[in-house]
Amino acid sequence: MTERHPDLSDIFAARQAIRGVAVETPVIRSALSTPQAPLWLKLEMLQPSGAFKLRGAANALAQLTEAEQQRGVVCCSTGNHGTAVAYAAARMGIPATVCLSELVPDVKVRAIEAQGATVHREGRSQDDAQRAADKMVEEDGRTDIPPFDHPDVIAGQGTIGLELLQELPNLETLLIPLSGGGLAAGIAVAAKTIKPSIRLVGISMDRGAAMAESLKAGHPVEVTEVASLADSLGGGIGLKNRHTFALCRDLLDEVVLLTEQEIYRGLAALYREDRVVAEGACAVGHAAIIAGKVTLTGPTATIITGRNVDMDQFTRVVTGQPVKLGDVTLEGA
Ligand SMILES: *Cc1c(COP(=O)(O)O)cnc(C)c1O
Repeated sequence: MTERHPDLSDIFAARQAIRGVAVETPVIRSALSTPQAPLWLKLEMLQPSGAFKLRGAANALAQLTEAEQQRGVVCCSTGNHGTAVAYAAARMGIPATVCLSELVPDVKVRAIEAQGATVHREGRSQDDAQRAADKMVEEDGRTDIPPFDHPDVIAGQGTIGLELLQELPNLETLLIPLSGGGLAAGIAVAAKTIKPSIRLVGISMDRGAAMAESLKAGHPVEVTEVASLADSLGGGIGLKNRHTFALCRDLLDEVVLLTEQEIYRGLAALYREDRVVAEGACAVGHAAIIAGKVTLTGPTATIITGRNVDMDQFTRVVTGQPVKLGDVTLEGA
């Protein structure tokens, strides 16, 4: 494991390393395209684990030594990262344990077990689960696979940028969903090295976006999490962030923030205009364009990051019904 930031050669190496576990996803042309400015959608929700996080997880596992692989890996995510680690580890014959608190619903536990991982349940909070994972690292020599702030994870996500620019070399703008910043940092390293003139826009919700708040403050800060249609974009970036904060600060040209109502309209458009079923986190590119917060000026691409969506909520959004999110109610269009 390296401590320097990943570079383009790491991303080329990652592309080889993840072959056979993650797939090269297709690109489709969005109905929001204009004749001068096509909008391309990179369909990462078609990864076998349901989200792009498989790229980073598979690369991080591939970079472990044989001894480390035999001792196995651990992580604590209930979401797309946990599923990715479980899926990649099972494919690669590496023992994986996902530590979850007793409060995580059984459906999520079964989903992770179905990917081939062992679930270890401990405590009543995410912190308790993290402590159980830390103990396995110390006592059993397991390796913790973090969801974004790790050079091999970032390099894995960067393969999306490589595929995009090789397939569509005339791209001028990339709209990238932004949370912990592994996706944005990886794509940014690939894209800005291959094509320094490219414009990179990170997009988050306007409440509880840790990377956006941190970039504004000039250092990593903590935020309060609130319910969001783009739930995969929640969570902190870590006060001791080592890679993604610096890379996003140095390489992103702009960060755009969206209201929940704007994300609602984006998700409805993603489905009704482009016939794509995916998470709210993926609809932020559509949302920013429809809200007039991003103007299409030339060939543009956005990443449809995952399909781990609550279908009841999704159905309400695409049929224009109200959706209750914590303290707010979103109204249909
Ligand atoms: C993790 C995730 C993101 C954000 O990626 P980061 O690397 O944390 O910025 C976006 N969409 C989906 C579906 C995700 O699972």
